[in-house]
Amino acid sequence: MMTKKILITGGAGFIGSHVVRRFVKNYPDYQIVNLDKLTYAGNLLNLTDVEDAPNYRFVKGDIVDAAFITELFRTEQFDAVVHLAAESHVDRSIANPMEFVMTNVIGTVNLLNAAKEHWKGDYAQKRFYHVSTDEVYGALGETGMFTETTAYDPHSPYSASKASSDHFVRAYHDTYGLDAVISNCSNNYGSHHFPEKLIPLAINNIKNNKAVPVYGKGENVRDWLWVEDHARAIDVIFHQAKAGETYNIGGHNEWKNIDLIKLLCKIMDQKLGRSSGTSEQLITYVTDRAGHDLRYAIDSSKLQEKLDWVPSLQFEEGLAKTVDWYLENEQWLDDVTSSNYQSYYETQYAER
Ligand code: NAD
Repeated sequence: MMTKKILITGGAGFIGSHVVRRFVKNYPDYQIVNLDKLTYAGNLLNLTDVEDAPNYRFVKGDIVDAAFITELFRTEQFDAVVHLAAESHVDRSIANPMEFVMTNVIGTVNLLNAAKEHWKGDYAQKRFYHVSTDEVYGALGETGMFTETTAYDPHSPYSASKASSDHFVRAYHDTYGLDAVISNCSNNYGSHHFPEKLIPLAINNIKNNKAVPVYGKGENVRDWLWVEDHARAIDVIFHQAKAGETYNIGGHNEWKNIDLIKLLCKIMDQKLGRSSGTSEQLITYVTDRAGHDLRYAIDSSKLQEKLDWVPSLQFEEGLAKTVDWYLENEQWLDDVTSSNYQSYYETQYAER
C-alpha cells in the first residue's frame, strides 16, 4: 500500500499525539493531517515539537459533524485514516453516556461513511485503521487472557460505545469491502497524559502532597503498556496488517492498582528526595467505581509472532521515565491543570 496523505483523528490527545509525532518524524514523505475537536482532553501543547514540520497540518473539527467530515474528505483526498478521536474516560461515561455515543459511535460511523463514499472503486489502495481498547472484552477472573476471538462483553458506557464502534468498522469491511483494521490495546501510560487518569493523577497529587485516591481496596488488575510502544504497534499494524484483521496490543504487564500506586510512591520518594514511605501516606481508599471490572489481561502473541512487535520497556523503567517527564515538564502540568492549554489554539493557530 502506497500511502501519501493520512488523516489522524484525535491527534491532540494522549495516544494520538504520540502517533502523530511518530508518523510526522518517521515518514517525511507522508502528509499528516491531525483532526481534533480540542475537547478538555485535546492539547496542542502536546505537539509543539512537530507543529512547524512541513508534512504536518492541524485541522480543528468535530467528527460528529457529518457534513464537515464529508467536505473534509472531498477537499483533502485522504489515502488512509488512523482513527483515535474518542471520549476516553470511564468515569465521565458513567456521568454522561450520550457524549460517548455521539463521538465514539456516531463520529466513527461518520468517518466510515465518508471513507466508503470517497474511496469507492479504490478500496484496495486505501485503509481505515480504528484504534480501540481491551475493555470491549469485559472483565476476567483471576486467570485467562483476552484474545482476538474473545466475545465482546462491555460493561461501562465507555466500553459499550467503543464495542459498538468496533462492530461498525467490521461491518463496513464485511458489507462494503472497505479495507479496515482494528487494534485493541490495554491501559497506556507515559508522557502527555491528561491528569485525570490513574498514573498522571497520582504523580501530580504526590508531587503536591495531596491525597491519592484508590478505588475500593485497589484490587483491580490492569495490564500497562508504555504509550510509545503502543504508537509503534499502531505503525506496524497500519503498514503490515491484512484488510479485515484485528490485533490485540498489550504489555504482558499486569498490576493490581494498589501495588502500582505503591511502586509509584516509592519512585516519587526517590525522585523528590523524600524519606522512604512518605508518599504512601497519601493513599486514600475511595468508594469503588460502579460496575468496576476486576481484571483485564491481553494476549498480544498474534502481534508478537506475526508482525514481530514486542514491548521495549520494563514497567519500572517506563514508570521512572514517566515520572521524570512530569517533573521536568511542570509548565505542561500547570497549563493542563489550570486549563491554560485551551487558549493555545487561539494564540498559535488563529492567524494560520
Ligand atoms: P484522549 O482522551 O487523551 O484523547 C482523545 C482526543 O480525541 C482528544 O484530543 C479530543 O480532543 C479528541 N476528540 C474527542 N471528541 C472528539 C470529536 N467529537 N471530534 C474530534 N476530536 C475529538 O484519549 P487517548 O487516551 O489518547 O485515547 C485515544 C484512543 O485510544 C481512543 O479511541 C481510546 O478509546 C483508545 N485507547 C486508549 C487507551 C488508554 O489507555 N488511554 C487504551 C486503549 C485504547
